[in-house]
Amino acid sequence: MSRFLKTVCVLWLALCGGAQAQDLSALARAEPEGSVVRDSFGGIVLEVGLSQPVPYKLALLAAPPRLVADFREVDWRGLDADAFDLSDRVEAVAMGPLIPGWSRLVLQMDGPYVIEAAALTGTNLRVELAPASAEDFAAKVSLAQTALRDLPEPAQVPAPRTRQDGVRPLVVVLDPGHGGIDPGAQRDGHKEADLVLGFARELRDMLRRTGMDVVLTRDADIFVPLESRITIARAAGADAFISLHADALPEGHASGATVYTLSEESSDIAGKLLAERHDRSDLLAGVDLNAYDDVVSDVLMDLARLETAPRSDQLADTVVAQMRVGVGNLHKRPRQSAGFSVLKAPDIPSILIELGFMSSPRDLEHLLDPVWRGVMAAAIRDALLQWAQEDAAQAGLLRQ
Ligand SMILES: [Zn+2]
Repeated sequence: MSRFLKTVCVLWLALCGGAQAQDLSALARAEPEGSVVRDSFGGIVLEVGLSQPVPYKLALLAAPPRLVADFREVDWRGLDADAFDLSDRVEAVAMGPLIPGWSRLVLQMDGPYVIEAAALTGTNLRVELAPASAEDFAAKVSLAQTALRDLPEPAQVPAPRTRQDGVRPLVVVLDPGHGGIDPGAQRDGHKEADLVLGFARELRDMLRRTGMDVVLTRDADIFVPLESRITIARAAGADAFISLHADALPEGHASGATVYTLSEESSDIAGKLLAERHDRSDLLAGVDLNAYDDVVSDVLMDLARLETAPRSDQLADTVVAQMRVGVGNLHKRPRQSAGFSVLKAPDIPSILIELGFMSSPRDLEHLLDPVWRGVMAAAIRDALLQWAQEDAAQAGLLRQ
């Protein structure tokens, strides 16, 4: 273990002991004053001004190279990522809540750097990063690959439940997109993460009234990696997985509700952009995508998908049909496909609904209107009821 990591670990233990009795009123704030990212002698210096000292952990992640700083209970709301990003060597900055009790700051760097020094002096954290060879960087990354150890484990695939038969209650997993360090699209002071969580709760209540079992992948403003969302669905024994979004796209690209299924090839450029952006959000939040590679062998996945893909298509088609009847205003091509990672469960029919696009003023107005949301939720409910019946009948035919 490097001298630096030892220093951090010791510091971590020392501070952790003293911070156990913290309550929310003692939440530390990140202060604009004293918070900066700048170039320094070929390297990068990060400074974070805090209202009080808190325990923190630092880690480096690869592909792309990132510095991850996790803090105990820091409120980032007073700080703007743009104000932070003053270094040419930093390509992106993200910060926000991670899981309850922890928040995160991530710098995406333009190449390999290693942590040369780190110290919390008073209420000011200063981290110095020096350029490094690929080998040196790789060595440090492997030491620090525990950055997300508190999040749900993506591996361990339990046997899927038997296919729904239209008799037992349908298990629906609703997946409000984004959250925590990843706010999603933002317009006029509204965050996609908040809007889709609110909608998911309303839809959950509506579905429960029909007797369905409903699980949310997140029920708070926390960060859940894409792969963990699938793990949650599988653990719940989901019969259907519905990811809910309201992204933003460049002007004129999109308005109206759109339903996506998974495909390698995107049906249009907007879908490709959206799928890539969601993967990037995970990277920027500090997820190591490589860690998920060998959950299930590709062959097994492909076999399962052969059965699941038409069921996902059927669900998506039914949702579009019901939305046409209900809300009416859909995207000009409401039924699309793209490479969304969150739809990759091989054994669970999965769709992603863009309820609307926050970049469209009309869509944003709809998303903020409880009456419109109620009609949209009812359309999804009716589609699920119809799909469950048709899907069960289909299963019956397959068994004969
Ligand atoms: Zn989104």
